[in-house]
Amino acid sequence: MRIGIFGGSFNPVHNGHIHLAVSAAVEFSLDKVYFVPSKRSPHRSDSEYAADEDRLEMLRLACRDAELLEVSSYELENDRISYTYYTVEYFRELFPGAELFLLVGSDMLLSFDTWFRYKDILSAVTLCGLSRSAGDERALREKAEELRKFGNILIGSAPPEEVSSTEIRKKIAKNENFACYLDENVVQYIELKRLYGSR
Ligand code: ATP
Repeated sequence: MRIGIFGGSFNPVHNGHIHLAVSAAVEFSLDKVYFVPSKRSPHRSDSEYAADEDRLEMLRLACRDAELLEVSSYELENDRISYTYYTVEYFRELFPGAELFLLVGSDMLLSFDTWFRYKDILSAVTLCGLSRSAGDERALREKAEELRKFGNILIGSAPPEEVSSTEIRKKIAKNENFACYLDENVVQYIELKRLYGSR
């Protein structure tokens, strides 16, 4: 089994996230990709950061028709701080013998060497970095070269889908059209629950 782990705030999950997960699954022959939403920190307000259960539900809606994609509530249910190191340990126990692939967008790859116990993470997984904006490929390849002394690094070749959750939240709050960036069921959920200041 080749299992992908894809963490983030997913606030909300958008087409860039789905594109990253699907293109990594195809390019690296993954059997499944698990989206792992992180917990909301206590000082964040509702208007900028949807509740854990809403972000989880939006992920479930966005992944429900894709057999490759799964959602894990591990970090939301766990009391300790959501360090990726512990999430990787959890997946190692859940899938003994499986090969694990940690998927990250370019911004996350570039700061990966600041992550808690990143060398230990790299001894347990293959890190897969994927572009999130045109032109970031060179920086990705350079960082991958530096990190290779600690483990396996792969760089995806799919062209990026340039969108961010921040941009989408701003559009929603300004009552601008945002539907084209999200799964249609997620759009309906945001409107129904009036998330991010939607009217
Ligand atoms: P925010 O704008 O709220 O910071 P975000 O859009 O960056 O959100 P996150 O949930 O923080 O999304 O990101 C989770 C993971 O998805 C990270 O590894 C990030 O690099 C990656 N990612 C986010 N957007 C894209 C995109 N458009 N293309 C590729 N990867 C992306």
